[in-house]
Amino acid sequence: LKTINDVEEDIIFPSLPPLLSGHPEVHLRNGIMNASRLASANTPDAEKAFFVADLGQVYLQHQRWKTALPEIRPFYAVKCNPDPYVIRLLAALGTGFDCASNNEIAQVLEVGGIEPQDIIYANPCKAASFIRNAAKVGVDTMTFDNSDELYKIARVHPRARCVVRILTDDSKSLCAFGVKYGAPLSTVPGLLAKAKELGLEVVGVSFHVGSGCYDPNVYMDALMRAHSVFVMGNETGYNFKLLDVGGGFEDALFEKAAAVLKAGLDRYFPNRQDMQIIAEPGRFYVSTAFRLATNIIARRAPLKPSTPSLPSATAPDDSAPNVDQPVVMYYINDGVYGAFNCILFDHQIVHPHVLSMNGSFHVSQDEPMHLCSVWGPTCDSIDCVSKKTTLPANLHVGDWLGFDNMGAYTICAASQFNGFELSKVIYTTGGSTRFEVRNILAAFAAKFSEN
Ligand code: PLP
Repeated sequence: LKTINDVEEDIIFPSLPPLLSGHPEVHLRNGIMNASRLASANTPDAEKAFFVADLGQVYLQHQRWKTALPEIRPFYAVKCNPDPYVIRLLAALGTGFDCASNNEIAQVLEVGGIEPQDIIYANPCKAASFIRNAAKVGVDTMTFDNSDELYKIARVHPRARCVVRILTDDSKSLCAFGVKYGAPLSTVPGLLAKAKELGLEVVGVSFHVGSGCYDPNVYMDALMRAHSVFVMGNETGYNFKLLDVGGGFEDALFEKAAAVLKAGLDRYFPNRQDMQIIAEPGRFYVSTAFRLATNIIARRAPLKPSTPSLPSATAPDDSAPNVDQPVVMYYINDGVYGAFNCILFDHQIVHPHVLSMNGSFHVSQDEPMHLCSVWGPTCDSIDCVSKKTTLPANLHVGDWLGFDNMGAYTICAASQFNGFELSKVIYTTGGSTRFEVRNILAAFAAKFSEN
């Protein structure tokens, strides 16, 4: 690890927070030390939770993508984490962007250097005014999965390049989308005929196997379905050139998914020289790049043996400790209404680890662990980060808990319920990749500086 004094800092984009170099662990420490200093000076809210985003990790994920899937251009799914540095870095690396709304399109175009052709409007059900806006800003490629969408597009953006989103097997994913989106294959001939009748150009097929896909074999079946829709396209008089294989890529299974995709492309699209193949990865790029540091703001001991129990026939027997019950309830300053909304919306299970104990960063590995629960700061009892986890039972108010893999579907959907602020992000360019990343960002800033 680098030492704290070793950290250089500069601001590449004036409107963004400083970009720090050095290992993310250093910045976690720095952040915690700053917070503690402010807390001892009685600064209100000094112990705020914060993210450390390692842009070097985003860069490494892109290298992985290029190695495993060189023929598939990623269009980063902005919804997953619309972080301005992530978008700049990915734009500089040459990815496209999957946007789902006017604001996402505006945010991406504002960065500079991203052309409207680098955006796919991958929301099959759009408001007419949003489609009109897409036409105005030059975003032409958009998905549909129903005939009402085709009528809207024909009315307000007749030059659009339409992509039919088909239904595929999403039963092997944490978040299934099939109940809401995707045309069953039986409906596709009718949809394509309607598009033809309306004079619309349909350029290809997209699918999404569901977010957080834990069985990459589903991509094979999805490619088989996509191929049959290419045939349907031919039969309707279209010549599809675009295949969009969607998102769903899990970090640990990425290479496996890439191998299935490559085999599937060889099987179902052997002559694909003049085809454009794209994907819409979200979580793959950002999940591992963001960590969250949270402060223990309160602790309680639930149902300790010494707690006098009410004299009731049904009262629990408090005389013996219950080994299945948490021994301490820790309350931290971000919760399910904030960054941990991923527990509710993205079906995540999060695992805290101790970042600091009694003000020290040296946390002994021999510390006895106990069953504990971790709660968010709002006054709602649904705000539980972890019902049962193992932590030392002697952490104090002011100690810090860390959570890894917090980059996907966290910040983007966080609210300020109960008046709690969103956790801010500290950016670093990581260890081994820091020169590449900083050079790439600096060159990008020089070319498209601050629109
Ligand atoms: N594309 C679309 C249309 C989506 O709805 C999503 C996620 O909701 C994604 C891409 C990104 O998926 P993932 O983060 O699983 O890669």
